[in-house]
Amino acid sequence: RDAIQRFTEKNPKSLAQHRTASAVLPGGNTRTVLYHEPFPMALSGGEGCYVTSLDGVRYLDGLGEYTAGLFGHSDPVIRAAIDTALDGGLVLGGHTRPEAGLAALLCDRFPAMDLVRFTNSGTEANLLAVGLARTLTGRSKVMVTSGGYHGSMMLFAAPNPLNVPFPYVFMTYNDLDSAKATAAEAGDDLACILVEPMMGSGGCIAGDPDFLRGLRDLADRTGALLIFDEVMTSRLSPGGLQLTHGITPDLMTIGKYIGGGLTFGGFGGRGDLMRRFDPAAPDALLHAGTFNNNTLTMSAGLAAMSQVYTPDVIAAHNARGDRLRDRLNAICSDAGAAFQFTGIGSMMTAHPTAAPIRTYSDTLSADPRLRALFFFDMVDSGVWLARRGMINLSLPMGDAEHDRIAEAVESFVTLRAPLL
Ligand code: PLP
Repeated sequence: RDAIQRFTEKNPKSLAQHRTASAVLPGGNTRTVLYHEPFPMALSGGEGCYVTSLDGVRYLDGLGEYTAGLFGHSDPVIRAAIDTALDGGLVLGGHTRPEAGLAALLCDRFPAMDLVRFTNSGTEANLLAVGLARTLTGRSKVMVTSGGYHGSMMLFAAPNPLNVPFPYVFMTYNDLDSAKATAAEAGDDLACILVEPMMGSGGCIAGDPDFLRGLRDLADRTGALLIFDEVMTSRLSPGGLQLTHGITPDLMTIGKYIGGGLTFGGFGGRGDLMRRFDPAAPDALLHAGTFNNNTLTMSAGLAAMSQVYTPDVIAAHNARGDRLRDRLNAICSDAGAAFQFTGIGSMMTAHPTAAPIRTYSDTLSADPRLRALFFFDMVDSGVWLARRGMINLSLPMGDAEHDRIAEAVESFVTLRAPLL
């Protein structure tokens, strides 16, 4: 209660803004994930890896826009690409070279991707990938993970009446036996297995290599297609987590950071599957979307991926993330705190428990009040992060910023030691 009180006192303009916005936006915003008690903090701007609240406080941006903010807020290369694209005109309504350039780069980088199609969001990408799998296999069922997240209309952490009503069957993450049992029940009606190679929203829970490899075998044995949702995880190695594990899915989806900070999504995979979207094919599938190839995203994404997030930078950025997470976990264990950070590379989530976290249900055993306290204490220390405790490191963060995160975590585990 004290932490919420302090947050309220420090953010009077955010409170006023929340009240104003709530008159025209349900709950004062258009993204449920950004809402938190007592009211969400409103931002006035960002620069590098910092954001400024409406109340004029500068925070280290540890949220990194749920992985889409990888490049920070003012990368000069991306800005220049956007400026150039602006000079060339908006809403062109035709194919452009940057569209093909970005597609070529992505097909080169991700082993699964022979052909790609762009969308406006990761949600849309997943809906299309699943739709393609169901169409091509002539089967109906879609295996997903309990607690998984593939977009606002494919959310499995809680009952969601707005989910697109595919006939879902559920497995438990990192439990191959549960996946096999579910596949057996679905019989020859299993169209696809849709899985994140690391659960992101579910709590940065890494997939065991054996589990992911087992899903590949299961798909092969049952004739279902394996779809990796790499909307978040594709940033974790030069070829996504599929490259890290040496497992090639039939289809994959992407989104978030790949648009250089602009709206983006995409899906792709095996050429023989994706070719159905060729309009000249005899039985072509229609895939439209006014802004799929919008010039700003295509140009920003191409510059970001070809000039900024190059394979060397990807490896170095994620190695630094691994070192920071190890450091944070050492701080927790040295303090004797039942607190841990899970994740891979530049993505991590704090969990107020010392018990191993391998499935989504493991995250539910942690006290939600401690999760809330961690969020408010970190914000009070000047580190902005996801309400659920997720931190995504951005490229502009230097050692000083990593130190700042470590210091904030250290002061949290010290101050709250009796509770942890
Ligand atoms: N898939 C995963 C794994 C995600 O984390 C998200 C968003 O958080 C999505 C899909 C949906 O992407 P978007 O928000 O662009 O629709």
